[in-house]
Amino acid sequence: MAIASTFCSNTTFHTHTNNIPSLRSTSTHYSRFASNSNFIGAKLPRNSFYLSAGKPQTNRHVVNPSLSGIRSISASHQAFDVVIVGAGVIGLTIARQFLIGSDLSVAVVDKAVPCSGATGAGQGYLWMVHKTPGSELWDLTMRSHNLWNKLAESLCEQGMNPLEELGWKKTGSLLVGRTSAESDMLKKRVKQLSEAGLKAEYLGSSDLFDKEPALLVDKDSGAAFLPDDCQLDAHRTVAYIEKANKNFASKGRYVEFYNEPVKCFISSGSNGEVQGVETINNTLYSKKAVIVAAGCWTGSLMHDLVKKWGMELNVPVKPRKGHLLVLENFSSLQLNHGLMEVGYVDHQSASSSQISGSETDHGRTLSVSMTATVDAMGNLLIGSSREFVGFNTDLDESIVNYIWKRAGDFFPTLRSLSLSDIGANRNVRIGLRPYMPDGKPVIGPVPGLSNVYLAAGHEGGGLSMALATAELVTDMVLGHPGKVDNAPFSVQRCR
Ligand SMILES: Cc1cc2nc3c(=O)[nH]c(=O)nc-3n(C[C@H](O)[C@H](O)[C@H](O)COP(=O)(O)OP(=O)(O)OC[C@H]3O[C@@H](n4cnc5c(N)ncnc54)[C@H](O)[C@@H]3O)c2cc1C
Repeated sequence: MAIASTFCSNTTFHTHTNNIPSLRSTSTHYSRFASNSNFIGAKLPRNSFYLSAGKPQTNRHVVNPSLSGIRSISASHQAFDVVIVGAGVIGLTIARQFLIGSDLSVAVVDKAVPCSGATGAGQGYLWMVHKTPGSELWDLTMRSHNLWNKLAESLCEQGMNPLEELGWKKTGSLLVGRTSAESDMLKKRVKQLSEAGLKAEYLGSSDLFDKEPALLVDKDSGAAFLPDDCQLDAHRTVAYIEKANKNFASKGRYVEFYNEPVKCFISSGSNGEVQGVETINNTLYSKKAVIVAAGCWTGSLMHDLVKKWGMELNVPVKPRKGHLLVLENFSSLQLNHGLMEVGYVDHQSASSSQISGSETDHGRTLSVSMTATVDAMGNLLIGSSREFVGFNTDLDESIVNYIWKRAGDFFPTLRSLSLSDIGANRNVRIGLRPYMPDGKPVIGPVPGLSNVYLAAGHEGGGLSMALATAELVTDMVLGHPGKVDNAPFSVQRCR
């Protein structure tokens, strides 16, 4: 086992990052250094050292626990090829891709558990109807769309039921307009989507009414209809991916570390190479890559991790809170497809200040767009809100009422029902979407920190973009040619 590098504790290193505007280094104090191994559970040599934040004399150590002010590392040290921070849909699908597409070993570490972040709140649509052909997101989204379909098909071929395993349903999707201007826009969208190779149809008011009799339709109404659009259930899908990943545990290739926040990076200090992470309980070395897929926490986490080294990295991903209403055993509304109002397209990509028609409540800009689906268990899911209120995830009844009212604008039968009548059969999912100001996720290596990659910032499309994101990240790490251009998602653009 090779020792990565050596280090003297009183040395100050300067990392040169002149060509990297987003990542600035002042000075970095290193204590000792790390070594690594690609064997799970491999013991580290007794003379391994750590990179640690702060002054050298207060650094953590493993060599001489008797020194005053220095704590001994008694927690376990383990080594993997790849360490992934974040067990949301992005982190877990990246793990899956490494496991099925290479022979590397993988550790997934999360400060909580899978589905505790945005993923657990997801409505589950993987639709293409609101995606724009030719946009910078198109290739990634289209690739993911194809990969999800392939996964569902492969489950069928193996005798499994995608509905059971993933909550998979091919319901088709309707992007609904209510004015003549919106309907004209939808006609153009249908043309674009058809030219991009998707089965797409424009429905005028009478065809739309035939498809969805519960929908309020007047003479100006229209919809873009994609009959092949699918949805999944985020919880079932994550459970399926986790189960599949765990099959590699017996081969010594997969370990999960849950309820373990990552606290710092480990580095040799000699060349900015990050060699793993330290959690509250464990030190996890990575031979090939550390992938940070921590959703809306990615910006603050990276900021804190590199700040300890006197560096600055500003990944502008921030939390965009969403409420989603879940109605169990709800028989008052029958839907044949997944539905979304046309305003969703702008609300997803715009910053709050750009949203027209959004509600303002005590200076906080809130937008609500109607989305409606029926999940694999038969629950009616009605969404959803968007607002910037930091990392707060408290239930806000006024927002739930607004979502209900907005749904009533589209489905008149709901207007006669009060949410309080629904009582115990009502749940609300709340999640923090990882929002990027330019509307694109950040996927790729971090300049100046070799071995570190980011995969975050998918806002309201992380479920749909997960499989292509996972493929893109693994291709980068493994040095394979990418199936989609990664340039639009580069970390360098974070300034
Ligand atoms: C109401 C709502 C509806 C949505 N509907 C859809 C939809 O229908 N279709 C769609 O495609 N997308 C949808 N989305 C968006 C989708 O849910 C997200 O884009 C996606 O879940 C993001 O996944 P992620 O893995 O990046 O983040 P997350 O799921 O948030 O996972 C990040 C993980 O990182 C962990 N973490 C954070 N800090 C640390 C640390 N220091 N150490 C270790 N771990 C850490 C967290 O605990 C968390 O588990 C919806 C979102 C919301 C809120």
